[in-house]
Amino acid sequence: MKLTRRSFLRYSGLVFAGMNVSSSVLAALERQLAKATKPPVLWLNGSSCTGCSVSFLNRIADSAPETAADVLVSTIDLIYHPTLMAAAGDAAASVLLRAYREGGYILVLEGGVPTAFNGNACVVYSINGEEVTYMQAVTELAAKAAVIVCVGTCASFGGIPAAGPNPTEVVSIHELTGRPVVNLSGCPVNPDWVVWGLANLIAGAPVELDGDFRPMALYNRDLSGTSVPALIHDKCPRNINVNPSAPPEATDFGQAGRCLINLGCRGPATKARCEGCWNGKAGQANWCIGVNAPCHGCVEPTFPGPQSFYQTYTV
Ligand code: SF4
Ligand code: SF4
Repeated sequence: MKLTRRSFLRYSGLVFAGMNVSSSVLAALERQLAKATKPPVLWLNGSSCTGCSVSFLNRIADSAPETAADVLVSTIDLIYHPTLMAAAGDAAASVLLRAYREGGYILVLEGGVPTAFNGNACVVYSINGEEVTYMQAVTELAAKAAVIVCVGTCASFGGIPAAGPNPTEVVSIHELTGRPVVNLSGCPVNPDWVVWGLANLIAGAPVELDGDFRPMALYNRDLSGTSVPALIHDKCPRNINVNPSAPPEATDFGQAGRCLINLGCRGPATKARCEGCWNGKAGQANWCIGVNAPCHGCVEPTFPGPQSFYQTYTV
């Protein structure tokens, strides 16, 4: 493994610079990462498509010469991630159990929790021939975690796996455990927000949360850092109140530049800092509305709900 603490810090610095985060947080992060013993991170996947991991891996790979696996394993002591780790079977599970016995880890959870069939719709590992469900693993691991980070809307609120009729009775991590969580919702979550969350938690910086346990700084503030509600609609260039020269509302898909309210856009009910912040490459950053697609409200507890993505949404 290459030593990539510097690249993680550089990347965190870029993320922080875009989000008005104080340089003292970055300095605290640097001090923590310089320690011989780094905060252990366990990352488990449940009912999800693993899109949040994939988005995160692509983002890091785009922004640094090292792979995401290098960055994570070398800097934050990622000791368990089912799609990144080389170990498998009992060897992998025993790493997890050893961390569990010691406690005090950062528990990152990607995916909702199926509770029907006693949790058996989602088995995450087996040890000594005995299968362990995601429901059982989350319940036990959450009890001894220093902090629980829910990556993506599935873990945060149930998301697509919990959409109607929800035959496996998927619930969010907080619903299952009742424990404090930091929800980094999004479908997938913006990878910069994952770095922001992990970096702040490792640095020991206070993370102010909203009523849905999401960081205020990522979901509830405008780009100047004030506490003005940051509705997607209120900063959309297709909103006539934002851009008086905006063309009339679209009546069908493919009508570039027009407001998508009649095509099911949930921008008026969605708070997040999505505008221009995806993909990460200079000159190529974009977002859903920028590519002529309605906002699905993917960061909200109401996503996707029992209805189709493209049904008109009443706010
Ligand atoms: S496209 Fe969506 S977010 Fe933009 S103005 Fe229309 S309703 Fe609002
Ligand atoms: S614009 Fe809407 S659908 Fe797109 S990422 Fe942001 S919250 Fe999700």
